[in-house]
Amino acid sequence: MSDFLVDLGQNQAAKTVIKSLGLPIPMPPVLERSKDATKLRVLDGRDVAFQSFGDSKLCGVIAKTLAEAGAKTHCTQALLENGAVLQPNEAYGQVCQLLELESNEKPQKFHGVVFDVSEFSSLDDLSQLYAFFNPLMKRFRTCGRAVLISRRPSEAETAEQAAVAQAIDGFVRSLAKELGRVGATAQWIQVAKGGDENLVGPLRFVLSPRSAYVSGQPIVVSGQAKALAKAPDHELPLEGKVALLTGAARGIGAATVRLLAKEGATVICVDRPEDDRLTSTLAREVGGDVCLVDVTSENASEVICNHIRERHQGVDIVIHNAGITRDKTLGRMPEALWEQVLAVNLKAVSDITEALKKDLLRDEARVICLSSIAGISGNPGQTNYAASKAGVIGLIRFWAEELKDKGITVNAIAPGFIETRLTDAMPVPVREVGRRLNNLKQGGQPEDVASAICFLATPGAQGVTGQVLRVCGGSLVGA
Ligand code: NAD
Repeated sequence: MSDFLVDLGQNQAAKTVIKSLGLPIPMPPVLERSKDATKLRVLDGRDVAFQSFGDSKLCGVIAKTLAEAGAKTHCTQALLENGAVLQPNEAYGQVCQLLELESNEKPQKFHGVVFDVSEFSSLDDLSQLYAFFNPLMKRFRTCGRAVLISRRPSEAETAEQAAVAQAIDGFVRSLAKELGRVGATAQWIQVAKGGDENLVGPLRFVLSPRSAYVSGQPIVVSGQAKALAKAPDHELPLEGKVALLTGAARGIGAATVRLLAKEGATVICVDRPEDDRLTSTLAREVGGDVCLVDVTSENASEVICNHIRERHQGVDIVIHNAGITRDKTLGRMPEALWEQVLAVNLKAVSDITEALKKDLLRDEARVICLSSIAGISGNPGQTNYAASKAGVIGLIRFWAEELKDKGITVNAIAPGFIETRLTDAMPVPVREVGRRLNNLKQGGQPEDVASAICFLATPGAQGVTGQVLRVCGGSLVGA
């Protein structure tokens, strides 16, 4: 379903009329999205302001990530003279430019603003947040990106350090709310001990149009999962990988199948036998194959495992996307609706993964489960759904720890309001409120969730495991 206000916002004539009449119609920003396969130079020609506080060990990794991705880096005089910034820029043929914070004449606008605060340690250091961002607030381009990079509050050695690191959370969430007006976002990347080199993939993702509907989110980058045998390739990152996706026929599943295939994966499309036509057409379109099975049927794990064993011998990416809602307040809910939702959304996820773990899930594999913000916040009428989606979070946290020595990562995605048949089924007033209650004042598209899933599926996301990534536009629900 399309969003009337977003469509109107794309029509210049209508916008002018509304403005001239002074009508109080809030026009959601039109988000920049990318339909192309990932390029190495994902930030080609984009202006990024970069500042690093103190003698940071992350400064070099960040500078290299920006230069390799093709960004035009702007930094202060002190950083311009820092070899950690200069060398990678020279190596990738980039010229770093001077960042003048107080610029009066036609100030440069930025696609991205990155502040490395990993060396913040005293409460006084927090003044730097104001000093850096205050003059830049009017210099974000539409759909720009703010990224703060810090150490983990849980790894702080003093109470003051913990407070300083945690202060970034409140800052980023508020910044994301302020920037949402122009379709821009803010994220907080926390780099855990041992995770420095794993920062590259997540930083590329949050700065790119692929993260259009991710807003105000903390992302932890660690060295928890065993390091990759070879450095990740950022171009066609999924080439040669075999991916299994349940609920492939439509909505988020179909969008993800298309993106996985674009990034080079061979996709096994799983959906119910009654969705044969839709699933088979999609699989043909992307050169994948089809496995028709109801994931709640008794032999579902066996059918899926046999399919993989016979045709692919193993699997690199598993995406548990099949999901249903059967809403009723608890007192009025027939037992069957409770059981149905738990069976599809949670039990099937557990059974199929346990079966794959035995001998088909390859080292360095990716397991990604669809949770929901309802699983974080709860919703009236959704005790069954919220229990199932919270249960999924329990599974991924356990498996992330269990499988880390094989280099396997396990994560959940928690979508907010995404325009699919699931949300089409909502009563109109509930739907309209759900759509607008977020920083970006609009619902997300299935492609937004697909982009986040594909990011987690890439080798470059090795540092992200046991986490829940919300793709919700910074929804106020459960925030
Ligand atoms: P959808 O209804 O458009 O698609 C779900 C797919 O799962 C369908 O193709 C369906 O046939 C398949 N499926 C359902 N039961 C199955 C079964 N027993 N066996 C095999 N396949 C089965 O839904 P969607 O909006 O694309 O949602 C995808 C996932 O994202 C779900 O897990 C959902 O809970 C989650 N999610 C969606 C939203 C949203 O706003 N759309 C929000 C939060 C979470």
